[in-house]
Amino acid sequence: MLGRIKRANWTIVEDPEDADAIVVNTCSFIEDAADESIEMILELARYKQTGKCKRLVVAGCLPERYREQIAGQMPEVDAFIGTGAFDRIVEAIEGSTFSGGCLLPDPSTTSPQEKNAPRTLSASHMAYLKVAEGCSQKCTYCIIPRLRGKKRSRPSHDVISEAQDLLAAGVKELVLVAQDTTSYGKDLKPKASLSQLVEKLASLPLKDTAGPGAWIRVLYGHPESIDDAFIKTVASYPNICSYFDIPIQHVSSAILKKMGRNYNRRTLDRLFDKIRAEVPGASLRTTLIVGFPGESEKDFNTLLRFVENTQFDHLGIFLYSDSEDLRSHRLPGHVPAEVAQERYDQLMSCQLDISTRNYQQYVGQTLPVLVEEPVEKHLYAGRTPFQAPEVDGMTYIKSGPGQPAPAIGSFSQIKVSDAMEYDLIGDAI
Ligand code: SF4
Repeated sequence: MLGRIKRANWTIVEDPEDADAIVVNTCSFIEDAADESIEMILELARYKQTGKCKRLVVAGCLPERYREQIAGQMPEVDAFIGTGAFDRIVEAIEGSTFSGGCLLPDPSTTSPQEKNAPRTLSASHMAYLKVAEGCSQKCTYCIIPRLRGKKRSRPSHDVISEAQDLLAAGVKELVLVAQDTTSYGKDLKPKASLSQLVEKLASLPLKDTAGPGAWIRVLYGHPESIDDAFIKTVASYPNICSYFDIPIQHVSSAILKKMGRNYNRRTLDRLFDKIRAEVPGASLRTTLIVGFPGESEKDFNTLLRFVENTQFDHLGIFLYSDSEDLRSHRLPGHVPAEVAQERYDQLMSCQLDISTRNYQQYVGQTLPVLVEEPVEKHLYAGRTPFQAPEVDGMTYIKSGPGQPAPAIGSFSQIKVSDAMEYDLIGDAI
């Protein structure tokens, strides 16, 4: 959307006070996200009275999920565009061919991002690279397939071509994303696979021959579709981060079945053992849901033991978020909020101990870091290959007086001098 707005000769401003039109791109995956989106819309709506804003546009998952119902409740919004109408953002802000109301075409009928679509990066050194849009899985707690449509993979030549442009523009980290990344290409004719795609990306000639050139990171794998070829590819290329993000949500067979996920604890044990055996130094990240309908104390203890045994490097935990339009809503045995919160706290405290112990092992080691931003005088923040943007901790780099400051957006070697629960600290060498 940013790319399209810029191409139409609009200037992007940071302060809503200065804006002629304001776009709120919303999330409504869980209740908290929907609430946050609504608060932001109402907060920004006041610039129509106090600023120069003439049009307020709401885009994305909130109008896609709540449709005309939300439009009726927010008269201050001039136009709502769903996830399948992002390419009509300019019409929505200009009020030209589409003056107002809701634009909600079926998301499954729209093409995913295309290479030639105009693009504006929000950071110069790191870019998300979308390889597919939508999801064809049927998790009972998840609204995404309805909001984003069924999975449509981008042709690999299109992804590669966009990657080349991004690398030529100086991007140092390509983060491959989709709702279900590891099933990339299975819907294409002829079929393609994530391992083939990542192999081609890792083999692209890179500009910076002094360092690793650029890193490739893959997020949002699925335990059912991650295959041996992908694990092998990650092990074979030094410029692919040995980072496996595989949201499992739970391990109790009864809960997984209710969630609509077709694996069990044994298959997960085998998968994580295999990754650790075949990819030296592999970093594992997963995401869990606690308080899912029907989750008993026994189910939760099974999950807790699994987390203790597997020792994930990074763990994200969500409280189950209920809504009447989810299939899981109709399941019996909804867990009281305070019980779900206790379970969340117990898991978080278990992971805190694991992460603290885990990070101590890096003290004294030399690690590559992608330098991202200055924090204060002589202190910079960056990330190692095992720290993903936005969700994991950071590595803080001290650069003493008289030392050259590490360049933002470049790779630097650091010697780790200290470790906190989720962050590392080191000196540039
Ligand atoms: S795989 Fe992920 S995006 Fe797809 S339905 Fe399940 S939770 Fe939702």
